[in-house]
This record gives sequence, structure tokens and C-alpha cells, in this order.
Amino acid sequence: MLKVGDVECAVLRSARRSVAIFIERDGSVSVRAPLSVSDEQLAKVVEKKLPWIYRNVALWRELNRGAPKKEYVSGESFYVAGNPCLLDVREDAAEPLSLIGDRLVLKRTHISKADELLRGLYRKLGYERLPAIVERYAPRMGVKPGRLRVWELQNRWASCSDKGNLNFHWRVLALPLDVLEYLVVHELAHIKHRNHTNDFWAEVEKVYPQWKGATEWLRVNGAGRSF
Ligand SMILES: [Zn+2]
Repeated sequence: MLKVGDVECAVLRSARRSVAIFIERDGSVSVRAPLSVSDEQLAKVVEKKLPWIYRNVALWRELNRGAPKKEYVSGESFYVAGNPCLLDVREDAAEPLSLIGDRLVLKRTHISKADELLRGLYRKLGYERLPAIVERYAPRMGVKPGRLRVWELQNRWASCSDKGNLNFHWRVLALPLDVLEYLVVHELAHIKHRNHTNDFWAEVEKVYPQWKGATEWLRVNGAGRSF
């Protein structure tokens, strides 16, 4: 264990070439380092990265804390694929859970499975709706993203791999549309600029000038809006 300020990190040394810091699936912080790097050198690297660590641990907590519990009664509101929808709990629903216009229809006999059903619906809608948003922005940004996945990410809303593959947390489907679009633009901008440099933000600004509103919304509302 390495302690830097109030952050404790597990250290894993191996025959790798560079130092990398990770927020693990359980929210703990770990540092992977080459065999030759001393604890003292590592502490310096971690110290420089403290703002990044604080930000990402906070985000991990947001995404993993129990979202405000829904009761699944008619009239409750949910964001679904960027639109506010009202829940309608019915005896005679044909499907366990379906989206009909701006109504979310839940079969009464399936209330106990509603969390799971909603998660499934969000994932399905993610695969249906996100590609269209990607296709709208990618050509304007001059990027060609790889495959898109919607799943459970541990400490982020979305990510972009070195190969340009896009990953989205299924919870992004429970965000307002402008925030959802911002997240897509953000990840597409990473295809050109890996880090959050001025060039990166200029790229975002070019196609999504209102990005500051979306980042502020995420900071204030975070995952509280997720379900
Ligand atoms: Zn980013």
C-alpha cells in the first residue's frame, strides 16, 4: 500500500513500461508500475494525479450508490432515451415493460422485476438510439468510431478506447437528451485527442457549443437522475 495525502493505493509492480493509475471495480485505487520505479517516485506520480483520482473516485461513488428508489407506481416519471416519460402500471399490458410513445408501460405482475426490466430496456434503447446520435456528429467531427457497446461501466458514463470503440453506461439513457448528446460528442472528440487538452475542448465546442451546461448538469445532478 502506498499512501499519498488521504489516498491509499495498492501497488502492483510488473515488467510493464509505464505507471498507470486505476479506479478498480470496487472503487479502490491501484497503481501499476514497472519494477524499477521506487515507492518515492511512485508517490510523486500519484500526487500529480490526485485531482484526477478524486474526480474519478467521486464519479465511481455516484454511479455505484443506490440511485433513489423508484416505487413503480403509475404517474412516476422517468427519463427514457432523453425524453421524460410517465409510468403506467397496468394489469393488461402485453409485455412486461414497454415504451409506448412517451409512456412506460409496466405489467403489474412484474413490479418486483422492474429494476431489471428497466435496465434491459435502457440497454436495448441504447443500441437503438445511440448509433443515430453518433452518426449525426461523427462526420462533422471528421472521425470514424469503431463498435459501440452499452453496458455497466464502473466509474464513468462513457469511454473511448484507443481503437475508437465507444462504451456507454446504460444509465446514460436515463439522462436528458442534451446531456446524452454531449456525452457522445465528448467520446467522439477523444478519437482525435486522448486527453482533456484545450484542443480537445475546442473540438467539442465546434459541434456542441453548449457543452458547459451539460457538464454542469452532470456535476449537479449526477447519477441522482439515473432511475
Ligand atoms: Zn473524457
